[in-house]
Amino acid sequence: MSQPMGYSTTLNHTHDPAATSWVASAQAPGADFPIQNLPWGVFRPTGSDEAFRGGVAIGDQVLDLSALARSGLLSGLAQQSALAASEPTLNTFMGMGPAAWQALRHAVFDLLVSTASSAVQQQVQPCLQAQGAVTLGLPARIGDYTDFYTSIYHATNIGKLFRPDNPLLPNYTWVPIGYHGRASSVQVSGHGFKRPSGQVMPPGATEPVFSACKRLDWELELGVFVGTGNALGDPIALGNAEDHVFGLCLLNDWSARDIQGWEYQPLGPFLSKNFATTVSPWVVSLEALAPYRTAMQRPDGKTNDLAYLHSEHNAQQGALDVQLTMGLTSAAMRAAGTAVHNVCQTSYRHAYWTLAQMVAHHTVNGCNLQPGDLLGTGTLSGPTLDQAGALIELTEGGKVPLTLPGGEQRTFLQDGDEVTMRGWCEKPGAARIGFGECKALVLPAT
Ligand code: MN
Repeated sequence: MSQPMGYSTTLNHTHDPAATSWVASAQAPGADFPIQNLPWGVFRPTGSDEAFRGGVAIGDQVLDLSALARSGLLSGLAQQSALAASEPTLNTFMGMGPAAWQALRHAVFDLLVSTASSAVQQQVQPCLQAQGAVTLGLPARIGDYTDFYTSIYHATNIGKLFRPDNPLLPNYTWVPIGYHGRASSVQVSGHGFKRPSGQVMPPGATEPVFSACKRLDWELELGVFVGTGNALGDPIALGNAEDHVFGLCLLNDWSARDIQGWEYQPLGPFLSKNFATTVSPWVVSLEALAPYRTAMQRPDGKTNDLAYLHSEHNAQQGALDVQLTMGLTSAAMRAAGTAVHNVCQTSYRHAYWTLAQMVAHHTVNGCNLQPGDLLGTGTLSGPTLDQAGALIELTEGGKVPLTLPGGEQRTFLQDGDEVTMRGWCEKPGAARIGFGECKALVLPAT
């Protein structure tokens, strides 16, 4: 078994908070994409029929990795990585592993840092395009999508609504619970989706009816893009798990609660979840997130996980402090020029199960992950109600409506609502690392 690289936990010169880029917008206050971030995505000029290709966000610009691969500025593994990242999706690059991801990150850092020579800056400049002039695509061809349930607060809040007498099932603190979702309906931020229709059981009824969903909800999650996979039958050990993670994005797991309530027993969610999932276009590497690692914080203090899910390193550094917000605008709010109304702020650090535990558990039976597979963390609700990552929790099952600026009320989403998720890491002594935004518009049912 290969030794873990430690690239996800070891700090180096690319984390130096004093580093700046000659791309001035990277230093704008509150910028999501300073030189310490360098997230991966795919893009093409808006309105063109050019092929999508890999890019790196820097300030308000995108560095075109295909143009960079043709520039002659790179060599060795960084050049091989840029060639792989020139494809319309990042799957090939994702499959190359952490040495390749790090080689290209460090080479890009050296080209964009303020201390790069003016000759280098002049050669890199033509490889930059304004983010406002490009369209961002889905970073990977997603083969499989699995959604976990790693927030014990969400599991408990939801459990109370669906099973008041038995909210948290006894397997929760032993098994990183998940279900296999639907890859084909994952869309990148900016694409709307139609309100789903399906079977629902109205309150007090004895037979179901077919109806447009009346309890349409969001779920605030992080997405995990798998990098290198594993052979069928060959589990990924906890200690190596992060070397198989290409990076993280924002993820909104749209949920039809009325359809879910009728269909979920005994096999779990099906049509209540598979109609749409939205991800952010930029994938933030674990290397960029290294300054924000933190200890697991379980409310029950449990430490006796089974051996394949336990290590001291994971307990001390397995969690990530990623701040997350979810907000919305109604059609009326947008018409009035009202800003996004945030209704939740939380952090990924509250998760009961870590990234590494998700990967180790997913493969412990021999299940094979492949480059570009997507894992969702599950709704990342924190300990208090204002940190709840879904409307069903925030409105206590639809009983306590939220009031929007302008006076409209919401229990669940209405047609024309646009939901925006944001994520970032910030603390003294480290550069701010942003995820950008993940948003989508609710369209009327067919
Ligand atoms: Mn979910």
